[in-house]
Amino acid sequence: MFNPNLSINAQSGDLAQLVSPTNKSIFIRLIPGGKYETHRGILYFDDLIGKPWGSQVESHTGQLYVLLQPGLADLLQETRRNTQIMYPKDIGFILLKMGIINGSIVVEAGTGSGALTTALALFTGEKGHVYSYDIRQEMQILAKKNLDRLGLTDLVTLKLKDIGEGFDEKNVDALFLDLPNPYDYMDKVRECLKPGGQFGCILPTTNQVSRLLFELHRENFAFVDVCEIMLRYFKPAATRLRPTDRMVAHTGYLIFARPIIYTKQPPNNHDGQEDLREEEV
Ligand code: SAH
Repeated sequence: MFNPNLSINAQSGDLAQLVSPTNKSIFIRLIPGGKYETHRGILYFDDLIGKPWGSQVESHTGQLYVLLQPGLADLLQETRRNTQIMYPKDIGFILLKMGIINGSIVVEAGTGSGALTTALALFTGEKGHVYSYDIRQEMQILAKKNLDRLGLTDLVTLKLKDIGEGFDEKNVDALFLDLPNPYDYMDKVRECLKPGGQFGCILPTTNQVSRLLFELHRENFAFVDVCEIMLRYFKPAATRLRPTDRMVAHTGYLIFARPIIYTKQPPNNHDGQEDLREEEV
């Protein structure tokens, strides 16, 4: 289980981040007797165990590294990948917006390299569970490796299945889709989510978002939100503080909605369709 110790010293079995002189990060688990070999020399784990986090440590050739306890964003960025993985800026908001907490039962598709799977598993924890679908076995093998590395395997069930055949779970708390054609599966999503549950999705183009909005409306989803998260980094130079030259300008649009059981006429103001009609007049 990924359960970082909160002590000030690195302990045996901890996941650690070593930052090289060129600012490259290496993620290792501090197994006693273990070592990490680089072209800058060997780092022996026994020399690192017991050192305060934030210390400088030396390879056997005298190269200096910084020993850190990794943050979740750093770990996710390091996910070994075959697909476009999701960015921490999007994942962070998704977790809060969809109310993912310790004990939540969550379904996602596709698994991809497992970056979102990792974050979901860390938040749902041992009381909850993540069911993750993908049609490509090689993706699930890679995702399993990434989950194993953090000791999260038991918190996730990987399913090799096309979600066009439906989900096996019912009444789940939250369901997230990261695949190109979510609008083809909204009836399946509705069958899987508990009424009023949390649906979320990420899509790269507005055309896909429009198609999804039609389907959400057809399937009686309400409280629809469409948004994108903008994040701009600054050069942290006190005397010439300004944005970095380059930025990731676009990752994806985030769409959220909740399946509603209407016993009477659906109210117009729950899904933005009312505004749409007003604009058309
Ligand atoms: N969120 C992932 C990336 C997902 S990439 C991450 O953070 O790493 C999209 C994945 O969806 C691909 O691996 C693809 O194989 C899978 N996929 C596409 N259509 C699917 C379907 N109908 N059923 C299940 N998985 C599907």
